[in-house]
Amino acid sequence: MALIGVLALQGAFREHARALRSLGAEVRELRQLPHLDGIDGLVIPGGESTTIGKLLVDLGMMEPLRQRILDGMPVYGSCAGLILLCKDIEDSEQPRLGVLDATVRRNAFGRQVDSFETTLPVKGLDAPVQGVFIRAPLITRVGADVDVLARVDMAPHGGTGEEIVAVRQGRILATSFHPELTPDTRLHRYFLDMSA
Ligand code: GLN
Repeated sequence: MALIGVLALQGAFREHARALRSLGAEVRELRQLPHLDGIDGLVIPGGESTTIGKLLVDLGMMEPLRQRILDGMPVYGSCAGLILLCKDIEDSEQPRLGVLDATVRRNAFGRQVDSFETTLPVKGLDAPVQGVFIRAPLITRVGADVDVLARVDMAPHGGTGEEIVAVRQGRILATSFHPELTPDTRLHRYFLDMSA
């Protein structure tokens, strides 16, 4: 079974670790550069993307992680993790890995409805998931190699039409929402299958 590193600098890393362990994965919490040695996959949790990005730079982990991902290591980012994976972040110069050919808009759901839950189908999963959105980002552009796995109807949340909230580009998986905050481990299973 794979050894999955969960970036544990800030945010909801314990919940990801718990979900992965419940599926039989070995998990290592990553807090410094040497912890990257020997991991087969990486999870970047939700939290505050500016804080996590700054810590990655300060700890000298940003470039080595980017290189590992470019070399093919599977990675899954939820919420702030998604933001850190994206190449382009609207109106922000914040540090990022930039490995996912997509543009993201942070805190995209506005102040009135900054957090909500909704049920949504995800391509590749047998039945819809409960999407927990917390000051969540939206993907506003995807490159040709990016597969859209889920969209959400923004009309009830102050927007118009359907917006992208889950994508996959090769071995890079990203969701705007937080499956680690629900008992449903199918997206973690999907990621482990990707990492096998
Ligand atoms: N709004 C946060 C950010 O921009 C992300 C929120 C989350 O990860 N739940 O980093």
